[in-house]
Amino acid sequence: MSRPQSLLIAAASLLALLACGHTANQAQIQQAQAGKAQPGTAQRDKAQPAAAAPVLHFPPDSGPPPAIDGARAMQYAKEIVKFGPRPLGSAKHKKVEDYLASHLRGDQVEDDVFTASTNVGKFPVHNIIAKFPGAKDGIIILASHYDTNYPLRNTSYIGANDGASSSALLLEIANQLRGKPRDGYSVWLVWDDAEEAMKPDTEVDFMSDSLYGITHLAEKWQADGTLPKIKAFLLADMIGDSDLNIDRDSNSTPWLQDVVLEAATRLGYQSHFFARTLPMEDDHIPFVKRGVPCADLIDFDYGYNNVFWHTPQDTIDKLSPASLEITGRVMLESIRLLDNMTPLPPK
Ligand SMILES: [Zn+2]
Repeated sequence: MSRPQSLLIAAASLLALLACGHTANQAQIQQAQAGKAQPGTAQRDKAQPAAAAPVLHFPPDSGPPPAIDGARAMQYAKEIVKFGPRPLGSAKHKKVEDYLASHLRGDQVEDDVFTASTNVGKFPVHNIIAKFPGAKDGIIILASHYDTNYPLRNTSYIGANDGASSSALLLEIANQLRGKPRDGYSVWLVWDDAEEAMKPDTEVDFMSDSLYGITHLAEKWQADGTLPKIKAFLLADMIGDSDLNIDRDSNSTPWLQDVVLEAATRLGYQSHFFARTLPMEDDHIPFVKRGVPCADLIDFDYGYNNVFWHTPQDTIDKLSPASLEITGRVMLESIRLLDNMTPLPPK
């Protein structure tokens, strides 16, 4: 979904320094905050699934609930942020690539490396995929981008919430998956690269100038036959905010979001989820377009009116281990539900 030109101009003063990642239409945010329904994006009550949504049969709640070490995830976020700005093509970006790889040593890792032709030149792009095989035929993807915004590269912008928090959480999720045979689907963790736009979205439409890494991966998996095996794609973005309010994204798959909400409810975290609905442009879109069930877990209210997003104020002090733990446990519980839901709704 592209941002209408008139709104782009209206928002230009606010967004002058920003390039877009994971954007929602500003007018729609305001309407959502005012409690008004959007055309095509019903403000659904948690107890009222969309009319077209399939009826879900959740398995009984059994076994120990999933664990996440929020303090350890927070430590990873601090270490990633310590590298500083990590825009595409920079030495610090390479350091984070090495950092992620060092935590995945011994795991089954696939590197998807290519050169992206962007609006500001050619850049090396490096998606990192860690695979944890399961007994069931099918794959669940958990994804996070790890690059920081390119137009802000010469500022002190370090993307603590936007890039670092979710990438750190995936490292902690890898800790929880490692060494444990899985009865369910295979789980692939994806640290995707070049999510952020290369030019401010006041100059170039976000969707034509971003998502380079994840788009390449979607194309590659479509070509090699992996795509039909993907049962669900769960994206985490900006999930470290200590005031955690994960939005319902109207571009995501409703039934998969209902699985996420069921997982959150079982863990007692439902008050952190889906109080409002926004249309998000984020890493999941290339998979949405290819018919893969997707859920974007994003808190796009980072500071009052999202004021810290894409600013040098996106710093580690705004995050909390508890928020990382909530999101991580809900993602793992969602996997557990999906593993035991037979059959899954049709794509
Ligand atoms: Zn961003």
